[in-house]
Amino acid sequence: CGIVGYIGHRDAYPIIIKGLQRLEYRGYDSAGIALYDGNEINLSKTKGKVEDLKSISENTISLAGYLGIGHTRWATHGVPNDVNSHPHYSNSGDLVIIHNGIIENYESLKKELINRGYKFESDTDTEVLVNLIEEVKKQEGVKLGKAVQMALNQVVGAYAIAVFDKKKPDEIVVARLGSPLAIGVGEGEFFIASDASPFIEFTKNALYLEDGEMAVVRLGKEIKLRKIKDDAIT
Ligand code: GLU
Repeated sequence: CGIVGYIGHRDAYPIIIKGLQRLEYRGYDSAGIALYDGNEINLSKTKGKVEDLKSISENTISLAGYLGIGHTRWATHGVPNDVNSHPHYSNSGDLVIIHNGIIENYESLKKELINRGYKFESDTDTEVLVNLIEEVKKQEGVKLGKAVQMALNQVVGAYAIAVFDKKKPDEIVVARLGSPLAIGVGEGEFFIASDASPFIEFTKNALYLEDGEMAVVRLGKEIKLRKIKDDAIT
């Protein structure tokens, strides 16, 4: 299972596909990608190989996007199929997430969200997390980074995640606990990946998140690694 993300001045698609191929050694059963061009989110995902994802994407979606996230899944909750593959949307369609790991308390969180009117398409724990972030974000003054932090403080489990918001076109929020995550810092661009292999050709400047750390990866801003538990994000 693996994670790749990009935000910057290049086309995200080739970077992400190539990056996913470099992470294939980690093992997986499905793959998916979401690209954002500032207007539309284009998403494709499938059970099978990155090669399958590539041909489906190139035949069915627009590949435009300066921002993108890609995922290889090793199913833990829900069988390997197209619907359970990542990325997953939140109910509003604004938030998109990829996740490696397990949300152990997803059933009780899911029940609460269903009581609040949320609908679920997949059987994954991941779709619960993205909707929990959405629910938390409804509170006044809570931006994406803060919403991710607050949601993760309600979660028991292990994760490496990357999430973006259609309404925040200049950032990707990442967090790690128990699954690896690195950020590549370039000139006016950032890379995200499970290890540095997807971005080593673009930048030697890599930041590795420690367990329990998160970061708001925003264009034009320096990266600050923060503790999910104690460093309050505004
Ligand atoms: N628990 C998630 C799922 O089953 C993520 C699995 C993974 O690590 O790829 O969809």
